[in-house]
Amino acid sequence: DPKKEFTPASLSAIGQSIPHSTLTSNNQQPERHINMKVLLVLYDGGKAAEEEPRLLGTIQNKLGIADWLKEQGHELVATDDKEGEGSEFKKHIVDAEVLITTPFHPGYLTKEVMQTAKNLKLCITAGVGSDHVDLNAANERNITVAEVSGSNVVSVAEHVVMSILLLVRNYTPAHEQIINGGWDVAPIARHAFDLENKVVGTVGAGRIGYRVLQRLTPFDCKELLYFDYAPLPEEAAKAINVRRVESLEEMVAQCDIVTVNCPLHEKTKGLFNKELISKMKPGAWLVNTARGAICDAQAVADAVNSGHIGGYAGDVWNVQPSPKDHPWRSMKHPLGGGNGMVAHYSGTTLDAQLRYAEGTKTILDNYLTGKAQDPANVIVENGNYVSKAYGKRETKADERKEEVRTD
Ligand code: NAD
Repeated sequence: DPKKEFTPASLSAIGQSIPHSTLTSNNQQPERHINMKVLLVLYDGGKAAEEEPRLLGTIQNKLGIADWLKEQGHELVATDDKEGEGSEFKKHIVDAEVLITTPFHPGYLTKEVMQTAKNLKLCITAGVGSDHVDLNAANERNITVAEVSGSNVVSVAEHVVMSILLLVRNYTPAHEQIINGGWDVAPIARHAFDLENKVVGTVGAGRIGYRVLQRLTPFDCKELLYFDYAPLPEEAAKAINVRRVESLEEMVAQCDIVTVNCPLHEKTKGLFNKELISKMKPGAWLVNTARGAICDAQAVADAVNSGHIGGYAGDVWNVQPSPKDHPWRSMKHPLGGGNGMVAHYSGTTLDAQLRYAEGTKTILDNYLTGKAQDPANVIVENGNYVSKAYGKRETKADERKEEVRTD
């Protein structure tokens, strides 16, 4: 059945964490957390958040955990002010025990900032993708990083399918023409195609990548491909008739559409640079809702502006919020369109916000009461990577070997 969803157990086999873990050290009596300071770095929801209480991931609505934490005697600080030395983030991280932030408006916890965070024990990502934390530095400090795995993967997969369609069908300039009072079919149709019979490949076939491919099956694409060091379970690959390609260069050279669905880590930073993009088929489209820094911003803009690729779409940027002069705001295919960029919102639909707010509360409650965390949510813990999705490293010893080899 190509529509079959995987059970959480089989999904965790798709490039995910296996070891059982708890957030209390050495499984003894849970630590007691008294008068703990929790720092929330979220986006400012303004008037929209006052009018819409389901905008939970905002400084106004505080993931719905403010009263619950205060009743237990803990201190909660919520801010969107996260850049620069004098920011609220830098001020409060100094004595916070728990940091909660979203990938949509991340408090960047670099090694330097972490050094000032004397009490920090736990970082929770309200959402999916914990690259805003220097995970190696967190391991050095024994800080646990957990995220709400799976909470917005359908939200993102739907956005990817929409982005593929809007690029391939040249939707954005067609719509702009209408709202600007125009009606001229030929300049739009000359760069509009069908998705049927195209080759689509995903970099990363985890929860999101797999769901993208699953959702593409009714479009009768010519072939569905994936590149991932963690192979899909055979039954999962068979269910949607997807073929694994062992080399990324070979995969992108075969694709009409490439979609990026892997985490940002040392090995994926700048992965889509000038060289890899030059291997893409002329006119192919690139969709990236994973992380902006996986693509070299200028190389992408040059490829779109020159017409080498048909277009680029996504919602993630190398710096968020993105500056006004970012090349992805203005890039344009020579035939018009080819730009499907939006602000980072694919994984923060109202449906997703409810799920990641609840998941954040559960992780926090487990921490406070010494209960075991769901291993699928743990990225690093006790100085080690628990998740297998942030690069191919099995154990701390392997990691060290890899460092020696690359030095
Ligand atoms: P996942 O852990 O289920 O899957 C990630 C997959 O990527 C794994 O199978 C892993 O083996 C693979 N991978 C890692 N490094 C790779 C590499 N170098 N080459 C190929 N494959 C590689 O994660 P997921 O839930 O599918 O999410 C993936 C990413 O999407 C997140 O880490 C996050 O950065 C991003 N994301 C974005 C949004 C958004 O709102 N735009 C929301 C959620 C997640």
